[in-house]
Amino acid sequence: MASRRELLKTLSMLPLAGGLLGSEWLHGQPINKVLLEPATRNFFKELGLRTFINAAGTYTSMTGSLMSKEVTSAISYGATEYVNLDELQDKVGERIAELLECEYATVSSGAFGAMTIGLAGVISGMDEKKVAQLPDTTGLKNEVILQESHNIVYTHALTNVGVKIITVKTAKELEKAINKNTAMLWFLNANTDEGEIKQEAFVKLGKKHGIPTFIDCAADVPPVENLYKFTKMGFDLVAFSGGKGLRGPQSAGLLLGNKNLIKAARLHTPPRGHTIARGMKVNKEEVLGMLVALELYLQKDHIKEWKMWESQIKLISDSVLSVKGVETEIHIPKYANHVPSLKVRWDQDIVKMTPNDVRSELKNGHPSIETVGNDKEIGITTWMMEPGQERLVAQRLREVLSNI
Ligand SMILES: *Cc1c(COP(=O)(O)O)cnc(C)c1O
Repeated sequence: MASRRELLKTLSMLPLAGGLLGSEWLHGQPINKVLLEPATRNFFKELGLRTFINAAGTYTSMTGSLMSKEVTSAISYGATEYVNLDELQDKVGERIAELLECEYATVSSGAFGAMTIGLAGVISGMDEKKVAQLPDTTGLKNEVILQESHNIVYTHALTNVGVKIITVKTAKELEKAINKNTAMLWFLNANTDEGEIKQEAFVKLGKKHGIPTFIDCAADVPPVENLYKFTKMGFDLVAFSGGKGLRGPQSAGLLLGNKNLIKAARLHTPPRGHTIARGMKVNKEEVLGMLVALELYLQKDHIKEWKMWESQIKLISDSVLSVKGVETEIHIPKYANHVPSLKVRWDQDIVKMTPNDVRSELKNGHPSIETVGNDKEIGITTWMMEPGQERLVAQRLREVLSNI
């Protein structure tokens, strides 16, 4: 058995060991001070984790986006008082609907959660028995139609509800696929160009057949106009991620649109427990954080921000172009992650490294920098960086490519 002395030694190597032992000191500071002032603790370092400059974009694996002080103080505020969860969601939903000039809204657990509860509400309506029945769709509408090119991983948010996905290629095929079991038509904005049916035509088909339409716009701010565009166009339900361009909590999202459908969607959410979405909880902190993030986003000078991103991308591009054999391409994705972006490629006979080598050198260097891309190029965006970090990225990328 370990002696008390050895045990103390081991425990003192663990974070909070002082607390476990009732000691008054931790990391050279009185423990009550440490606990009262979390900002003085470097949690990620304590846990042995490296933080990094995010030159990649909004990726769940990289924890999405950073929240502003206004958002985190709304979250801290939320943690200090009790409030009725449904009443809070009602009020915040009304406020968001007012801000976004749509009929109704709710804060969801991400865009994925918005898809699940949105579809569940379409199927159940306000019928509590049907709410409790899902994901068993026996006797209920159980088919969702979408274009084949829109069938990406996230449609699992729909199959979670207990439905079958029916894929089609053309408007004609879509109309043929509609039957008495069709619950909803679903559109993926990010893949607009890959599908034959575009948004307006899609909405028209839904209206013609009296079937609700849903559009996934998870990564579609900017532009800010998208927050209004699709509800006004006539989509019954519209989903956005809270923790991408909106820079709210990564675990939150927005479901906008038809009031009756969103009320029905809410029946599937906590505090109610006989539901498929009990695990998709958003508590008051995230609800407030999401609201404040949205308010801030709407107040933002979007033109100024865009110009900043453009000049940051140009700075990085100019910097790496000074390396022999390197070429760059500045591009803006038309749908989803619609921000100035950079591709960096090089002649591998001159710069003798693969893009994977460069990505891991950037990641493992100081500071650590995360980028994306494939085996042909490095992909960079600056919109998820803190201003000023573009200089470090420009310098490091040039160093790595010139093999300094
Ligand atoms: C990110 C994303 C989602 C998931 O959004 P969360 O907010 O993380 O739940 C769904 N659809 C698309 C197209 C996305 O890009």
